[in-house]
Amino acid sequence: MLGTLFAILTAAFANGYAGILAYVGNQIQASIQGPQASTGWVIWASVGIVGLSAGRALSLYLMTVINNTGVQRALVDIQAAQFDALCDGDFSRMAGESSGGFVSRFINDVNAIRDAGLRFANNFTKSIVTVIGAFLIMLYLDWTLTLILLVAYPIAFGPVIALGNRVRKRARTAQKQVGEVTALLSEGFQAARVVKAYGLEDYQKGKARAGFLERSRLFLKVLTDRAAVDPILEVTGGLALAGILGVSAWQIAGGGSSLGDLLGIIAAIGIAAPELRALGTLNAVAQEGGGAADRVFEILDRPPEVRDSAEAIGLKDVQGHIRFQDVEFSYPDGTEVLKGLTFEIRAGETVALVGPSGAGKSTVFNLLLRLYDIQSGSIELDGHPITGLQSQSLRRSMALVSQDTALFDDTVGANIALGRLGAQQEEVSVAARAAFADEFISTLPGAYEAPVGEAGRNLSGGQRQRVALARAILRDAPILLLDEATSALDAESEARVQAALAGVTQGRTSLIIAHRLSTVRSADRILVIDGGSVVESGDHEELMAQDGLYRRLVSLQLS
Ligand code: ATP
Repeated sequence: MLGTLFAILTAAFANGYAGILAYVGNQIQASIQGPQASTGWVIWASVGIVGLSAGRALSLYLMTVINNTGVQRALVDIQAAQFDALCDGDFSRMAGESSGGFVSRFINDVNAIRDAGLRFANNFTKSIVTVIGAFLIMLYLDWTLTLILLVAYPIAFGPVIALGNRVRKRARTAQKQVGEVTALLSEGFQAARVVKAYGLEDYQKGKARAGFLERSRLFLKVLTDRAAVDPILEVTGGLALAGILGVSAWQIAGGGSSLGDLLGIIAAIGIAAPELRALGTLNAVAQEGGGAADRVFEILDRPPEVRDSAEAIGLKDVQGHIRFQDVEFSYPDGTEVLKGLTFEIRAGETVALVGPSGAGKSTVFNLLLRLYDIQSGSIELDGHPITGLQSQSLRRSMALVSQDTALFDDTVGANIALGRLGAQQEEVSVAARAAFADEFISTLPGAYEAPVGEAGRNLSGGQRQRVALARAILRDAPILLLDEATSALDAESEARVQAALAGVTQGRTSLIIAHRLSTVRSADRILVIDGGSVVESGDHEELMAQDGLYRRLVSLQLS
């Protein structure tokens, strides 16, 4: 609001120059015609020009500062809203796009919106008001000349607007590709070890170079379109000025106009022309920002598919009784995974899920956490369909250790403490001891304060797993979901962690996915999953007694 006021003031001060020059022109003409005329006008004109420039400078400065602050604040809101929408939105959306694509939405798209926002805030009102003011002054001074301009400029603006529309489309494609390059780079850096070990440097360099080339090709298209705007306006401006000079000279000679009118009109054109040009390029920049805003709003406007119903209840004192009944599920990309999966797990039971790779074991965890909704059948917790529970209360009842240990670039202690925000250091240490993480943590420089590095890269695979386990233990949830949680441990550590887990699983419902059969044999029950349904169920001895898939898997491991 205040920014708009200063924009109007800036425009008014600019147009003041045209008024003063018209006055000066008339005074000069009077001096030429009658040399005895007063010269006091020179002082007034000089004082007026200094006053105008000082006023314009101050209002321009205040307008820019106020608008910049407003735009930056709006951007913070946009970024935060975007991040909130992603965090609160469907997991499938996070899983379905590369992390580079998302990073690009936050960095590049927001930069494009920032450029457009700043240009818009600082130019739009100022330019429009300046142009209208200049137009009124011209109309007042000489309406014939003004008509010439009225014809010339709309002709120029047609192509400028068409260019703007093309820029919007091209900018969208270019921004999307930035996401691909970002993904390629972050993937390359994360896989640095494999790249070196496999001698993939040239392969990576080729891919990166192709990405950079494509980036410059797409960006160049946008720049080329943008570059055409100024020349179009330049030519139109030149033509208009030439026309004005011709007509004006003819009118002055005939006595129909004065030198003051001509000077005033030329000054008004001089004031309006850069603003018109700014409006022309502003259109292109705004279209580019619009392309980026479209991508941001794609995120903001999509309501989550997995969401709590108005009647959803918050479950307290969860016992951990789980039931899958005829569950059919396909991932959003159409991969059909579960075909009528049915099983029941009593509260407090420890059940292992076993089966060939890709059978759908981790999918069972995804569905229990309600990261996806199933297509048919039902999943119940303590007799309630999980679709009728508040997601937060559902997820609070579970502690997950996933295959990707998901450590954050923070200290070891902070990573464990994420299991239960607000946990005391003592509780963190107890959980770490239970997961046999304490012994290696105490050898790290800084112990619990040691940084784990990006995605935990300062730790070994086994150490990362123990930190993730400690985090799950600290969560102290009634249901424990362990997905290959001990696969990276050496035999000795695994045996010790298993012993510790025996204590942790006491009194909780525990679901364990493991390929190592040594990990699952002590489970109360083993469910063998194959082809999207349970094909065998029983404890280790019972399943070994059958000549089925479990026995085959065991003998394959032992052979
Ligand atoms: P593993 O023992 O190898 O971890 P799993 O039994 O845990 O395998 P899941 O991870 O549940 O298997 O995967 C089951 C199937 O679903 C696989 O065919 C896999 O390709 C597919 N799948 C898993 N996650 C997704 C996803 N986000 N989008 C599409 N398909 C997926």
